[in-house]
Amino acid sequence: MAWQRRREGPPKRPGLRRFVVVALVTALEADVNVKSIFKKHVSRRKMIDRRHFLAGSSLTVGSLAVSGLSAQPASTRPITALRPGEWLQIPDFSALANDSFRTGLRPFRAGGVRLETDRGADIRRGRKVLIHNYGHGGAGITLSWGCADRVKEMVAEALRDTLQKQPAAARVVVVGAGAVGLTTAAELKRWAPAISVIVQAENVSPAGTPLPHKSTSWIAGGQFEPSGIWRQYLPDRLYELHDLVRRSHRRILELKRQGRQRQYGVVDRKNYILETEDGRGFERGIPPDVVPPPRQGLLPFLPLATVLGKEYSTWLINPTIMLPKLVADLRAANVRFEQRNVRSRMELIGIDADIIVNCTGLGAGAMLNDADVKPIRGQLVILNNPGQLKYMFSGGCGDEAAYMFARQNDIVIGGTYHECENVDDLPEESYRAVLRRMQRIFSGDISECVAGRPTLPPQRCNLTRRVPTAGFAGSS
Ligand SMILES: Cc1cc2nc3c(=O)[nH]c(=O)nc-3n(C[C@H](O)[C@H](O)[C@H](O)COP(=O)(O)OP(=O)(O)OC[C@H]3O[C@@H](n4cnc5c(N)ncnc54)[C@H](O)[C@@H]3O)c2cc1C
Repeated sequence: MAWQRRREGPPKRPGLRRFVVVALVTALEADVNVKSIFKKHVSRRKMIDRRHFLAGSSLTVGSLAVSGLSAQPASTRPITALRPGEWLQIPDFSALANDSFRTGLRPFRAGGVRLETDRGADIRRGRKVLIHNYGHGGAGITLSWGCADRVKEMVAEALRDTLQKQPAAARVVVVGAGAVGLTTAAELKRWAPAISVIVQAENVSPAGTPLPHKSTSWIAGGQFEPSGIWRQYLPDRLYELHDLVRRSHRRILELKRQGRQRQYGVVDRKNYILETEDGRGFERGIPPDVVPPPRQGLLPFLPLATVLGKEYSTWLINPTIMLPKLVADLRAANVRFEQRNVRSRMELIGIDADIIVNCTGLGAGAMLNDADVKPIRGQLVILNNPGQLKYMFSGGCGDEAAYMFARQNDIVIGGTYHECENVDDLPEESYRAVLRRMQRIFSGDISECVAGRPTLPPQRCNLTRRVPTAGFAGSS
């Protein structure tokens, strides 16, 4: 089962000894009481033994120099705590929420999102247009507004050049009522209130009530990061991804300007990762004008006080708030919802509309025989958030990911990537292992992250589809 995180180039594994030495040296420079912290949180949790420390201590300056933190010698560049004088509260790992174990299938697509007008579908000699918007992998919440904005342009082009119709005379059917379908329909209505939009999807009741909680989008954590998917835009298409990220960001800024971001579940969040971890989802997947380069320093969690990390400023978009709000917006704009299961490309093309926008996520794989689409299963554990934690920790742990997103109403813990499509009846132990891994990290034991060995038990996995594998994992 090819489930491991895949990385470009050689893995970045500085090794336990160097990592701990770097952390301790920088802690000394930051005037942290290393002795007590080391005694309390490090040696007790077997992060390193005394012999390792003493052997490593002679490498201090050289270690810092090769850690990539700076070209300057360590002594001239003191490294401070990321949040001096402040310790962020860590989650209560015993506070399991109701319905605390959840599983979803990320609609991964090799090559990235399929976002294009289907030229092979010149239906009725140019009197109908088919547009695709699917395959967002672990980044569909992040990219939904950006892709919807791009679809809006494609619809405008189609109306002008192919159909030669005014928006008010056009009928659009959006197939799919997850984050991607709902944002697509909503952006079309914002652009042209007179355009007729109908949303058809499986997760609509026979009476026409949309059921957003019955979609993958509902399960998503909601971190703003094009996690995993950015690799699909290498080596030379990252500008396409950046364009979509910038468009999503513009929508977030617009909502903030209007003071309405909370209605859509959008909140500012700091995201922390270990210095040894892969931050490229942010650093390569998002242009620096959207998420500025991270700050580096000692992590603001007491048990990890001697550990170097990075802090990014990003957003959380909570789908359990965003999706109902989009549904409400669409209803207010007289958009109709219809239950429909589209089984084939022929059926898709046969939909009675001028423009059909296909936002069916994983469903598109079977419907269109798109062999590049595959499910990447993710398991989450949900905790209550009574202390109202307001940060995220993500970016992985060894060859796996490990993340924690504190949301408005709960805390999401996750980080599994399995090429499987069975979601039901997974053993409770597989969820508890995800929880334990995060708990270990927050207790100060990062040894498995540094050593990079997988720690989760093997998974029961069914997969009927096979497609070429490519890097898909990230933090969400
Ligand atoms: C565990 C997990 C964590 C995640 N965390 C994040 C995160 O932190 N940040 C982030 O940006 N993304 C995250 N994601 C990814 C995100 O959930 C997806 O990229 C996103 O939900 C895709 O949205 P969608 O609308 O394309 O798909 P879906 O939500 O699956 O919606 C598809 C829609 O199409 C309909 N449909 C499908 N097939 C058919 C058919 N044949 N006929 C009619 N209707 C059909 C469905 O009923 C549904 O309405 C995560 C995913 C998982 C599983």
